[in-house]
Amino acid sequence: MKLKIAIQKSGRLSEDSIILFKECGISFNNGGGKLKAEATNFPIEILYLRDDDIPQYVADGVADLGIVGENVFLEKNKDVTLTKRLGFGKCRMSLALPKAINYRNIGDFNGLNIATSYPVILKDFLIKNNINAEVHEISGSVEIAPSIGLSDAIFDIVSSGSTLLTNGLKEVHAVINSEAILIENKKLCQEKQAILNSLLFRINAVKKAKNNKYILLNAPNYKIDKIISIIPGMKSPTILPLATEGWSSIHSVVNENDFWEIIENLKANGAQGILVIPIEKMIL
Ligand code: ATP
Ligand code: ZN
Repeated sequence: MKLKIAIQKSGRLSEDSIILFKECGISFNNGGGKLKAEATNFPIEILYLRDDDIPQYVADGVADLGIVGENVFLEKNKDVTLTKRLGFGKCRMSLALPKAINYRNIGDFNGLNIATSYPVILKDFLIKNNINAEVHEISGSVEIAPSIGLSDAIFDIVSSGSTLLTNGLKEVHAVINSEAILIENKKLCQEKQAILNSLLFRINAVKKAKNNKYILLNAPNYKIDKIISIIPGMKSPTILPLATEGWSSIHSVVNENDFWEIIENLKANGAQGILVIPIEKMIL
């Protein structure tokens, strides 16, 4: 039995989806133009599809799992489970207006015509915020709609905002944040569920490792207690004596988020020769 996983055939999520499997130690041939690939060392099969079709295929059970943007998951609104956020393909969906317009608050969208390829997400937002605007669905090049007189405003994906600027628009309100997610068919059999669990175990180990760094440093013994209190290690740090009398080497794991703060604090408290090393996998 194999777990069938749908990923984007070619687009912004394709490469990172494949990298995720590689990091999980799963190899498969992704020879040009193929629609399917079987992993050689794990019971999964990859289906390459357009991202828009993935939620439907997963809902129908043609694929057991899929990787899509949260934006596509919300827009398609199919009967699938959000299993896990994957941390890549990050973007946001925002409302934008022509630069010259003086914007005060979302109430300003009342009475406007808004172009988008994401009518479901937009209408949901408008209803929740009690805004009476017209939604004009178009399938692409949403950002040119205002300049050709098709709409007053747009609702679209934004990552840096430079596309908006070159089209004379400004982002005025972020509606949702999105990243790539793993979605799951609601009726997986026990055997497939077991394969999924072992895949999730690997994904978690890879994700956790990315958020953490291994740190080694030297310190005089009388500073050890202070230094240990600064490093919130996995359980407790490793302390090894150095050849130099009165000194030790301390090893631990620190989270990327508070990384720089911890390093500065360590230096201020007598740590020397600090080494920071990426972690490949982390299993707790
Ligand atoms: P397909 O041919 O599969 O339909 P597409 O053109 O609809 O592809 P892409 O542009 O490849 O889709 O984007 C796929 C997903 O990548 C988006 O749905 C979104 O979740 C994410 N994404 C991240 N950053 C951006 C960005 N700057 N612009 C567009 N999408 C982004
Ligand atoms: Zn698409």
